[in-house]
Amino acid sequence: MLKRSAYTLLFPSFEDSAIIFNSASGRLCRLSARAHELGRGILWRPNFPYRDADRVRLREEFVEKGFLVDSGRDELRELRASYQRARADRSACALTLAPTRACNLECVYCYEGRHEPETWSAADEDAVVAFAARELAAGAALSVTWYGGEPLLALPIVLRMSGRLRDLAVSRRATWSCDMVTNGTLLTPDTAEALAAVGCMEYQITLDGPKATNDRLRPSRDGSSTFDRIVGNITRLDLRTSAIGIRINLMRDNAASIGDLVRDLSALGLAGQVGISLAPMEAMSKPCRALADRVVSPEAFADLHFEFLQVLEAEGFSPESVPMPVSNYCGADCDQAFVIDWRGDVFRCWNDVGDEDKRLGSVHEPAALRAPAACR
Ligand code: SF4
Repeated sequence: MLKRSAYTLLFPSFEDSAIIFNSASGRLCRLSARAHELGRGILWRPNFPYRDADRVRLREEFVEKGFLVDSGRDELRELRASYQRARADRSACALTLAPTRACNLECVYCYEGRHEPETWSAADEDAVVAFAARELAAGAALSVTWYGGEPLLALPIVLRMSGRLRDLAVSRRATWSCDMVTNGTLLTPDTAEALAAVGCMEYQITLDGPKATNDRLRPSRDGSSTFDRIVGNITRLDLRTSAIGIRINLMRDNAASIGDLVRDLSALGLAGQVGISLAPMEAMSKPCRALADRVVSPEAFADLHFEFLQVLEAEGFSPESVPMPVSNYCGADCDQAFVIDWRGDVFRCWNDVGDEDKRLGSVHEPAALRAPAACR
């Protein structure tokens, strides 16, 4: 006996066609208008003794792709087990490292508050390496994401520590990967070359609209245009060796100008050279609550995202990939993922950096670290 998988979703599409998607397996197919008509009935009554060849074949295909599953299968239990396995997985160790609180921007939504020039000391650097050595299993994968404040204001630390952590990975026969979340204002070709030498070649850079909008939402402390500096840097990089993902934080303030930004970047010859993604701004952490009235609703985001994808395609950028199933939502629910801030404090989630209540402990006292579950 068969049943429709609890994770099979059928979306009507253009000209009576449809998209069928299974959110547990990630399988996705486009159904023609005829297959859509037949498929709706098959999903509704998967065990009916169909006789015509089209329905029989389509049902077989639905079974093969996991849109229909054995009626005795407990999919929720399977997913829970997979989630718990991934949460306890020690084959990867993911560190998000914020070596400085300093930043040269004053974004209107920054949840990190004031940007005093607090930066790792030599003792902090040693403690971070010792912490990584404690958490990294032999043969595992060590990944580091540089974060801040603005990590490029601590470039010597980033270069030195990337080298030390890469050496640690090599000594444990672990793989090494490294990327960076940066505001992009300091990412010159020389800096990118120095970072590439320690294996850091992927960057996430935020632009929140065309020049006027971006510079209002992400102003610099010295009054210069951040848009001009960021875009100037990106266009001078060798994009065959530096992978740039541009993130747009969507809020009420910039909802009307997202398309203009995509067109501006296309006019600069960046279509096909950089990735662009849209993320809704969410008032998740305590300091962000004051921004709640700038957040767009999930329904409005869905409409704006659809328009955004159409502009991306029209301008020659790769559309974002389709949703893929993940074992864990993010690092916050993986036992081997840690965020370490400019004081050496350890957190589960990027959004909690600076929040005393969410602190797991310090790299200087690893034995006293709270259990990860305390912060979930
Ligand atoms: S660039 Fe990042 S750290 Fe700096 S003010 Fe903006 S959001 Fe905050």
